[in-house]
Amino acid sequence: MAFTRATGKHRAPSRLTRRSAQVAGIAALATTGVLGSLASPAVAADSEAPKATETGLTQAIALDATLAEQIDAQARVQHQQAEAIARAKAKAAAEAKAKAAKAKAKAEAQRKAEARAKEIREEKARAARAAERARLNAFHLPVAGSSVTTGYKSGGALWSSGSHSGVDFRAASGSSVVAVGAGTVVEAGWGGAYGNNIVLRMTDGTYTQYGHLSSIGVSVGQSVSSGQQIGLSGSTGNSTGPHLHFEARTTPEYGSDMDPVGYLRSHGVNV
Ligand SMILES: [Zn+2]
Repeated sequence: MAFTRATGKHRAPSRLTRRSAQVAGIAALATTGVLGSLASPAVAADSEAPKATETGLTQAIALDATLAEQIDAQARVQHQQAEAIARAKAKAAAEAKAKAAKAKAKAEAQRKAEARAKEIREEKARAARAAERARLNAFHLPVAGSSVTTGYKSGGALWSSGSHSGVDFRAASGSSVVAVGAGTVVEAGWGGAYGNNIVLRMTDGTYTQYGHLSSIGVSVGQSVSSGQQIGLSGSTGNSTGPHLHFEARTTPEYGSDMDPVGYLRSHGVNV
């Protein structure tokens, strides 16, 4: 092996070379366990080594560490604040949602209650109209509480035709005579053998006649409702005593008579 290095001029090793040597030495010492006692004085002894305060490196690192901790702490606080805000927002949103749902449920319940109330009102109105229709359509006895004393088609000398064209209802003079159903007055006045008589055209197109009246309370063309008083019973015309002669007819004229009891019964009257 040959030494190629010139020996004439011994140059002092550069600072970097010496530093490298020291570091190498420390490393070597570290393996022997004497680093703690020797390394520091060795470094400190190097007067040419720049101090930390001069380089600013260690200080910068120290400052950086503190700043990093501060930044970390600040970040944690900000994160916590952000989480708190998010939680508050979520809570507010949930509360708003619950409130909206409650308001919707309340509105729905109110709408249902109103709809139900409307249904009940309409049902009552329908029932009232039905009752009114029933009342208007219901037929009545021509004399309340009365009964037939002389039947339809019964024979006798009293009737010019030889047969009774209607029925007689028991009625003391002055008893209230009512329209058996709704209709219009087509005749009101003297009717010969019938005395004072009234003929009504009923809403179904049939006719009813009321004879021997002591007084007439309606006039031709007048509309009458079912059960409305139209006159008072008596014994006018060809009559042997106070009663009501009642006929049901297919036309306003005498001779178009039909069974008055069957007619009333067909309209629900108990006779
Ligand atoms: Zn009669």
